[in-house]
Amino acid sequence: MNVPELNRLLKNVGVPGTRQMANRVAQMPGSIDLTLGQPDFPTPGSIRNRVMKAVEDQPMKYSHNRGTLELRTAITEFYRKKYSADYNPDDEVIVTNGGSEALDTIFRTIINPGDEVIMPAPIYTGYEPIVTMLGAKTVLVDTTDTDFVPVAEKIEAAITDRTKAVLLNYPNNPTGAIYPKETIESLVKLFDRHDIFVIVDEMYSENTLDGTHHSFTTYPEIKGKLLAVNGLSKSHAMTGWRIGWLLGSDEMIEKLTLVHLYNTLCASMPSQIAALEALTGAADAPVEMNAAYIERRNYIYKRLMDMGLDVVLPRGAFYIFPSIKEYNESSFDFAVELLEKAHVAVVPGSAFSKYGEGHIRISFATGMKNLEEAADRLEGFLRGKK
Ligand code: PLP
Repeated sequence: MNVPELNRLLKNVGVPGTRQMANRVAQMPGSIDLTLGQPDFPTPGSIRNRVMKAVEDQPMKYSHNRGTLELRTAITEFYRKKYSADYNPDDEVIVTNGGSEALDTIFRTIINPGDEVIMPAPIYTGYEPIVTMLGAKTVLVDTTDTDFVPVAEKIEAAITDRTKAVLLNYPNNPTGAIYPKETIESLVKLFDRHDIFVIVDEMYSENTLDGTHHSFTTYPEIKGKLLAVNGLSKSHAMTGWRIGWLLGSDEMIEKLTLVHLYNTLCASMPSQIAALEALTGAADAPVEMNAAYIERRNYIYKRLMDMGLDVVLPRGAFYIFPSIKEYNESSFDFAVELLEKAHVAVVPGSAFSKYGEGHIRISFATGMKNLEEAADRLEGFLRGKK
């Protein structure tokens, strides 16, 4: 059969660079895989136990389209306690199938073809394809000369009459950058002056390794335009449970609910039960995981510095993003050669937009032994290149 023509916009979307490297490493036994975008810890026991009991005890039916009220209340309480944020569990939060569905729902609710979405870059691989598939355009703002923290003036300079939204992600994947309070405050002032949406991806908020995560949800003056995404994939080692959420004003949530419900009706019920336990009984789980990430982060940072690489200390998430510019080759070629010669898999920076080029992303969501061995191999590989 001749396959009928598909959505034309799909031609502009490819397999993410993270996945490409993960596929290559799967074919190379004996390699150390530092491409991982998920915690290496198991989901905490109390979460698993609570779900197993619930599955035995209660029928698993659809929930309210926006999720169970109990879970929505736990989410808004979490934001109230942590960020003094005022969100109503009834109509200002939607429980989603992971952060990914939250982002997809947001874009499909607000985007028209021809719109522009500003993203400080390097950026997570999941954003641009959604925007592209909607016939809109991504406008990247370079953050490489300010330690991957965006500057309000640069974002303002990118705003045009086509700008529909700015999308921010911190702690950042792939750079590990967090935003200082002054940055948040200067951005709040900027957003207050412009009629654009502010999408904030806080997926790694609980994996802030130094200092504090400052959330835009704290600032009521921009609540009407703010759409905040978060979830438990990273904080509670729950990537496979597919559970996240989005927060917004009641007016926006009403529209977002339509897109969410026609896509998926509601988030998976067992995972909603798991999420409730994560935010209540297992609320401290990220603290334990962060202690391990900090030890690994300090180790790999020092090793990379000792190798003479230009690297910014990541203060959040579980990635480090050293520059490999001095080796004068594309990050893709560098990563392939590193895998083939030294059997260490990393993600080329180009996977995270053109501003990621000249870097590699190393994930430290792996044990210390792996990290030590990988650092030794990388060091030998770099020595061979000099
Ligand atoms: N946002 C960022 C920055 C991510 O790194 C990821 C996953 O890697 C996601 C969103 C997707 O999260 P989820 O697995 O909850 O869909």
